[in-house]
Formats: sequence, C-alpha cells, structure tokens
Amino acid sequence: MAMYAERLRRTRGRMEELDVDLLLLSVGADLPWLTGYRAMPLERLTMLVLPVDGDATLVVPRLEAPRVVERPELFDLRPWEETDDPVALVAELAGAPRSVAVGDRTWARFVVELQARLPTSSWSAASVVTGPLRARKDSAEVAALRRASAAADRVAAQLQAGEVPLVGRTEAEVSADLGRRLLAEGHAAVNFAIVAAGANAASPHHNPGPRVIGVGEIVLCDFGGTMPDGYCSDITRCVHTGEPPAELRHLYRVLEEAQAAAVDAAVVGTPCEDVDGVARRVITEGGYGDHFIHRTGHGIGLEEHEDPYLVGGNCEALAPGHAFSIEPGIYLAGRFGARIEDIVVAAASGPEPLNVVPHGLAVVDV
Ligand code: ZN
Ligand code: ZN
Ligand code: ZN
Repeated sequence: MAMYAERLRRTRGRMEELDVDLLLLSVGADLPWLTGYRAMPLERLTMLVLPVDGDATLVVPRLEAPRVVERPELFDLRPWEETDDPVALVAELAGAPRSVAVGDRTWARFVVELQARLPTSSWSAASVVTGPLRARKDSAEVAALRRASAAADRVAAQLQAGEVPLVGRTEAEVSADLGRRLLAEGHAAVNFAIVAAGANAASPHHNPGPRVIGVGEIVLCDFGGTMPDGYCSDITRCVHTGEPPAELRHLYRVLEEAQAAAVDAAVVGTPCEDVDGVARRVITEGGYGDHFIHRTGHGIGLEEHEDPYLVGGNCEALAPGHAFSIEPGIYLAGRFGARIEDIVVAAASGPEPLNVVPHGLAVVDV
C-alpha cells in the first residue's frame, strides 16, 4: 500500500536526520502504523529490523506468520522456529549499528538481551523517531478519528438524554453499561470507562467501584475505545442526578469556559504549552487554580495517549493534522469534581473539535 511505503520513507528520512542507524519495533503502535501488522504481546519475540538504508525484515514466531499480511515492497518476512534464538537472529540482521532506536513498549527482557548482543551501539527510544511523524495525522487518519469520536458521541448523547440508568446502580455497573454501548456503536474494544460519582469525581482516574449512585450527585464519565481500524476515541461528560447546587454550577461554568477557550486557542503554530496555559488561566481566574491537577491534553491516534502532549514545558508548535484531547478538570477533594473532554484536530482552517455533543451539565434521573 502506498501509504505504508510513504510512512517508511518518512521514517527513514527522520532516522537519517537523527543519525539513527537502526530501528527495532516490537509490540506497540509504531509497527502497525508502519507496516499494518500488530504484534501480539507474547513472550515470543516479534521484531521489525529496519536499517536506515537496506531492506527491512520482520522477524516473527513461525506460528504467527500466517497472520502477517506480506508486503514484500516493505519488508522481508523471517519466521523463526520454536528452537531458534530470535534475539540472535535480530542481532545478526542488525549488523553493527552505531545507534539503535527501539520501540518504547518493547519488553525489557528483549531490550536487555539485545543490548548485550550489540554492546557498542548507543540506544534511544523509537518514539524519538516515530512520535512526531505519527502525531501528524493524514486525512484518512483524521477521518478514522472522526468516526471514533462520533461513535463515542452517540454514547455520550444517550448519557445526557438520561437513557443510561444511574440512580440506584453502582459506578461499576454504569461503567460496564457504557462499555457495552461503546461496542454497540461500533468500537471493537473498550479501553476504559471511568464512572465517578459525588466525591469520587474529585479523583481524575477513579476506578469505578461498588459505590451506589444517589440523587443529587455529579457523575463524571470518561470513556473511550478502539475502533476496528485501530483508531481510538476518548470523551468526558458530566451529568447530575437532580438539580446541582449553586457552587457546582459556578465551578462548572468556569470549567466550560476554560475548555472552550483552550479549544479556540489550539490553532496551528501555537505552542502546546500555551493551550494548556489558556485553560489554566481561566480556571485560576475563576478561583480554582490549585484544583486543576493535570495537563490539559494528550495526542490520540492508534494509541489513547501519544504525542503531542498539551502540558507546560512542551514548546512544540501545533501543526496541521495534530489530534489531541482538550480536557481540563477541577477537583475539590472530598466534595466533587468535573472534567470536560473533546478530541480536537489542528487544521489550517482552525481547530476542529471531533466531539460535538453539548458540554453543559445535563440534569438526568429526576
Ligand atoms: Zn486521563
Ligand atoms: Zn478521557
Ligand atoms: Zn483523554
């Protein structure tokens, strides 16, 4: 496929730029992004051996080989038998590279063994090479993210319409319900479905548990999954069972304003940290500066969290095709919390939010 050949060309270009002689990719999203093949996270080694010049080889366990869609224009397939030593095979294919970049999610036991076999090489993480390339989505990838977000939006709309029963159910039950709805709307896998009620909503990554949802509580729902084509969704909306108290309404207005201002600020050329700064300024001016305790967003694509990160200290400028979440939150420990999250794409024409369901604090279950 021309798309993979183009990605391979750009990857080699960046390896040259960064003086990386050899790229080694195993489990994780770099390999499917580059070749269309996703390695199983097994104790048996799968590894793409990609020299900056020279042919690439995909080393796979013999029993996995039938799953590989062969692309001879991209790589040679090299299955290994159960009695072979795959690390020795990779080392042999590697030759004597001065510098190696190895996939960030490669199992440590293989990295340790490979480093022993290639003792004179210097090592870095493959994301140094692939991160900035993968961060800029092409139009097909943006379309895939748009479909993923639309599927998540349909579930969020059901939540806001009161179609997901809340009062009297546990957070865990509602989480499982949201997961089933993600699948029903077209996802192939559920990656997470945070449901945090009342004071639990003050914990950003709360693990949905046995707490029964009552009347008069905020219910923070942050959920996402992976579509059959590999691209991810991620959305956060909050609903309230019954009328929210005035203080929560105020907090929520500040949060809505911060989220909208950050989306507006996500224009091409703006440093990532400035988008974070905009959300943070609005929340600080609203009186909740100490209660926004995480970065504003993360890139999204074949992985839920990838480059670019919208965080203080990241001065990288937004570029066309960058896709990321904008998800400020305000958390009052022991009381309540709220977060609003959309996926946004930076385009020449301006920031394009892919999630379009309303942001307001919907009142449900009354
Ligand atoms: Zn999160
Ligand atoms: Zn999320
Ligand atoms: Zn997120």
